[in-house]
Amino acid sequence: MKSDLPPGVPAGGPVSGPDRGGSGGTPHPESVSGSTSSSGRALRGLGVSPGIAIGPAHVVESGAVAIPEYAIASDAVEAEVARFNEAATKARRQIKKLKGKALVLPDSASEEIGFLLDAHLAMVTNSRLTRGVEHRIKQDRVNAEAAIQAEIAAIAATFAGMDDAYLAGRIDDIREVGRRLTRNLMKQEYRAFSSLPPGSIILAEELTPADTALLDPTVVGGFATVLGGAEGHTAILARSLGLPAVLGAPGLLAGVRNGVTVIVDGLQGRVLIDPPAEMLADYGERRAARERERQGLKSLRKLPAVTRDGTAVTLMANLELPRDLDQALEHGAQGIGLLRTEFMFMNRDHLPDEDEQYAVLRTMIEGMGGRTVTARTMDLGGEKLAGWMAGRYGEPANPALGLRAIRLGLREPKLLETQLAAMLRAGVHGPLRILLPMIASVAEVQKVREMMGQVARRLRRRNIAIADPLPPVGVMVEVPGAALSADALAYAADFFSIGTNDLTQYTLAIDRADEQVATLYDPLHPAVLRLIQFTVEAALRARIPVSVCGEIAGDPRYSALLLGLGVRELSMAPLAVPAVKKRIRALDLMEASRRARVIMDQSDSGRIATLLDDFNAIL
Ligand code: PEP
Ligand code: MG
Repeated sequence: MKSDLPPGVPAGGPVSGPDRGGSGGTPHPESVSGSTSSSGRALRGLGVSPGIAIGPAHVVESGAVAIPEYAIASDAVEAEVARFNEAATKARRQIKKLKGKALVLPDSASEEIGFLLDAHLAMVTNSRLTRGVEHRIKQDRVNAEAAIQAEIAAIAATFAGMDDAYLAGRIDDIREVGRRLTRNLMKQEYRAFSSLPPGSIILAEELTPADTALLDPTVVGGFATVLGGAEGHTAILARSLGLPAVLGAPGLLAGVRNGVTVIVDGLQGRVLIDPPAEMLADYGERRAARERERQGLKSLRKLPAVTRDGTAVTLMANLELPRDLDQALEHGAQGIGLLRTEFMFMNRDHLPDEDEQYAVLRTMIEGMGGRTVTARTMDLGGEKLAGWMAGRYGEPANPALGLRAIRLGLREPKLLETQLAAMLRAGVHGPLRILLPMIASVAEVQKVREMMGQVARRLRRRNIAIADPLPPVGVMVEVPGAALSADALAYAADFFSIGTNDLTQYTLAIDRADEQVATLYDPLHPAVLRLIQFTVEAALRARIPVSVCGEIAGDPRYSALLLGLGVRELSMAPLAVPAVKKRIRALDLMEASRRARVIMDQSDSGRIATLLDDFNAIL
């Protein structure tokens, strides 16, 4: 196994930080206290999806893929060299990021890993390797992946002739760098996890949202990674799938063998590798208690989400994949408040056509049996790159600020028109709303409405049945600019859905998927709360429905505040519905509104958190 943090990371170190419940804090490795096992090791990370998983480790070997080899035409040489340079630039970024992570390891490990990563960095920066690869692309007219293979084989042959153990050892590093470059070139997203032993725990440097979408909860017990933040889509998917997960755990992969027993504690953010028997037994009991609690909450399924003083709240589900539909119904969701259709575009070589999209949407709408389905047009881009998109547009400098979501749809009208056509047709089969992601201006909404009108006319001319009247068109309020112009947008939109995940990210300039800044990510920051309040008030004035579909909607901690601010519709991971319903049924709305007013007068998020937590403790 080759890890991102190369061999030599010591297995243990003193615990130097406070225990955290859930996300936040600086993750680091530690020894398993009270361990009777010589190899036991505990690591800290961000607990992003609660629950306990115990099972055999499956270490994701980065780069174990078939390498394509093909000849290229002389006029394609320049583009191929550019493609290679792009992969090398990306590799430099990745290695620098890993260096940052190594800094939080104990001193000796940090230094040793720092040296190794410096060596890797040098290998992707105008080195014999990079020059050799470029030369081979030009000279041999082969693709970059094949050129890397050939160059590494040549370097290995030179090294093999040297009677120097140190240099001989360096070839492993060169191979590792070669794998990184190849992975970057292949925009490798697909990883098959279906043939693992049941209950396997995936340990990886990083799982992209596309990788995570492939995880089957009947096979995989949970996962842990070195990279990743608490509010990125990998974390969101983990919660949706109900898979305990810890992200951002440095040193995770050092010396782990496939098959060794691993515990993932997704609430405390702990990963225990080869734990001693008494710890295994303790975690086994905790897992059983949690399962009993979950089953108990399910009994709320048929009860309405009504506050103690009689106000009804609509609780809906966020869905990524059709397979989650049953879960939404099982947990009592009253509709789908956010269908992330972009997941239909991932892990495949070709785009889904209109008929395929229509079939999936129809299944979802019919499956919901008359409850509203809110389908969001694809929010591709950012960290949710579909393979074809990376090939077409390359790696953006600032993915979260780049060609994402509705911007991509308006740049590629065929893509959006196809999706709108599928939605209009599917709308015949039940109540459907169409939601537009990452809207920043009224003009964007108008353009989509015009496009939708044209698509509707074309379908009608061809006598194809479509929703009549056309489905309501809503706006995701998730960009600060949209929140600040919510009063104008409220006249262009039929409903609002507040995406607090991105709203927090963009308001505070904190990358939601970056574990390095995870502690700064704070939806209770007064700036974020004011934008939510402004948006809700604009919607209420314009008499359009407003919901919250960011992750805070699924956390009972925030229910009183959101209801107190006037929100009556929440959309969340299906598994979160019962706990939020329980909270709402215990709430007095008058009191919650009063507390929300006090909170909105505060300027410090620490004080806000205290005011909220105190309220939750009493009421
Ligand atoms: C959000 O940004 O809050 C949201 C719900 O959308 P996503 O998480 O898919 O970006
Ligand atoms: Mg969003």
